[in-house]
Amino acid sequence: MSQSNVGQQQQKTVICNNTEVQLMVPQQPQNIQFTRQPHIVYCTNCNNQIQTHVQLKVGKGQLMMALIMLPKLLFACVIPLLMDDCRDAVHLCPVCKAEVGRKNFIFE
Ligand SMILES: [Zn+2]
Repeated sequence: MSQSNVGQQQQKTVICNNTEVQLMVPQQPQNIQFTRQPHIVYCTNCNNQIQTHVQLKVGKGQLMMALIMLPKLLFACVIPLLMDDCRDAVHLCPVCKAEVGRKNFIFE
């Protein structure tokens, strides 16, 4: 689990018209750190190099912020639920719509 495998390619053998063909499959770094910005990564679902589409979703951290504020200020507890900065950033492949990564608001 080190950064040394960034950009490495993995050989994959496929059979095409009864002949073995060696394909170079780009290997996704195992410990990629997603942020709230779009990333250029290889989608492991469709094997395309894609720029992720970031979708903000309600996460555990956002709900916990609302619960912490609930006993103090009854109406203020909705503020974290309305703030985009408190949401989890989910990185989706624009081609196959698969989730390729996630940046959680509090919980990793
Ligand atoms: Zn994909």
